[in-house]
Amino acid sequence: SAKAVCSLNSLLDHIVTLLNTQAIIKNIYIYIEEETEDLRIRCISNQIKQVFMNFIKNAIEAMDNGKITVCLKKEKTFAVVEIIDEGCGIPESMLSRVGEPFFTTKEKGTGLGLMVSYQIIEDHDGDIEVESTEGVGTKFTIRLPLYLEDC
Ligand code: ADP
Ligand code: MG
Repeated sequence: SAKAVCSLNSLLDHIVTLLNTQAIIKNIYIYIEEETEDLRIRCISNQIKQVFMNFIKNAIEAMDNGKITVCLKKEKTFAVVEIIDEGCGIPESMLSRVGEPFFTTKEKGTGLGLMVSYQIIEDHDGDIEVESTEGVGTKFTIRLPLYLEDC
């Protein structure tokens, strides 16, 4: 399907609204920090929604309670989204394996969420970075090229 220009601010607001009920049941609060300016990208919005659903769901699943911060900002010609959780973290020995097909540490996990997310972000000319400390939490950083109007 074709790419269209969409606001990452609205897209993230929408995803957080969808996942909030699930979070609140576990005493998890999701905060969005965003600049007032609308950051727009050219994307297949259903795919990008799926990506952020995957990341925020993983964050919820990694925690018993606490805070998830979704931070949206602009860096040069990129929109940068950070998803920061206070969950179990990822051991250093496993960091390079997350995103491999079928790699999961969950009893009922598929190990496909991150693989699909990496693929979608690559198809949108973006990239993903992960930093994690066991027992402290995890931060995923997703960068996507901004839609820059021609003037
Ligand atoms: P699934 O959620 O089905 O296990 P994913 O591809 O979404 O598959 O994630 C793969 C694995 O990466 C998870 O099983 C988990 O071990 C690890 N992981 C991903 N996100 C997080 C996170 N926010 N905190 C801790 N571990 C994570
Ligand atoms: Mg997952």
